Amino acid sequence: MSGWIAVAGLGPGAEALVTPEVSAALAEASDVVGYIPYVARVAPRAGLTLHPSDNRVELDRAALALTLAAEGRRVVIVSSGDPGVFAMASALFEALEAAPEHAGADIRILPGITAMLAAAARAGAPLGHDFCAINLSDNLKPFAVIERRLRAAIAGDFAMAFYNPRSKARPEGFARVLEILRAGCEPGRLITFARAVSTPDEALNTVTLAEARPEMADMRTVVLVGNSGTRRVGRWVYTPRGVKP
Ligand code: SAH
Repeated sequence: MSGWIAVAGLGPGAEALVTPEVSAALAEASDVVGYIPYVARVAPRAGLTLHPSDNRVELDRAALALTLAAEGRRVVIVSSGDPGVFAMASALFEALEAAPEHAGADIRILPGITAMLAAAARAGAPLGHDFCAINLSDNLKPFAVIERRLRAAIAGDFAMAFYNPRSKARPEGFARVLEILRAGCEPGRLITFARAVSTPDEALNTVTLAEARPEMADMRTVVLVGNSGTRRVGRWVYTPRGVKP
């Protein structure tokens, strides 16, 4: 039997937000590869080998998946949310570029519900008009690039979603992001801190830019910043569909 690789998004946390396509791939898999907490979300069963690995070894993990598939194994690489959003799908293609002997590998990318969309749905519709997503981690890019993209998004009046907003290793980056927002946006701009969406630890907090504090975010939080038209209606936050000429 010939092997394959599926790069699958497990969604933000809740079982109900795992797509049937991803569940089917996991049911057929012989091997599951991924970051420890994501592999822990896959139920063990006979015939399934779990290969949990640490953070920041994405390329090794992708190379392992390519090797296993070449041996005829049915491999699912798991990511949280969507595998194409700051996750394993790009890492697999980087590994494929570096390993031409695997050029014929049978690869599928199975989408998942990414954190910003799950969070936006809980809040209302803060991403209801043009928006962008920015990864605030400077592991793989200089902070100067983050600043440049952030300023461009402010100038374009995009709503924004920030992934990996603040870690213990770099607590000062998010404080700087708030300073840049304050310099370019009105103090009443709405910001939603959405933590552990769709898990038992879920917490949503919408504040104005003036009220926002760096400690409101951690690595389990996705931060949604409205555009200049984003407003509240009842308990909801939404961005109107149009912009007046
Ligand atoms: N591929 C994932 C993102 C991986 S980066 C996706 O599409 O969602 C990890 C970051 O995603 C976290 O630091 C956090 O910003 C966000 N995130 C992931 N799951 C989340 C959840 N359940 N609630 C809020 N943010 C989440």
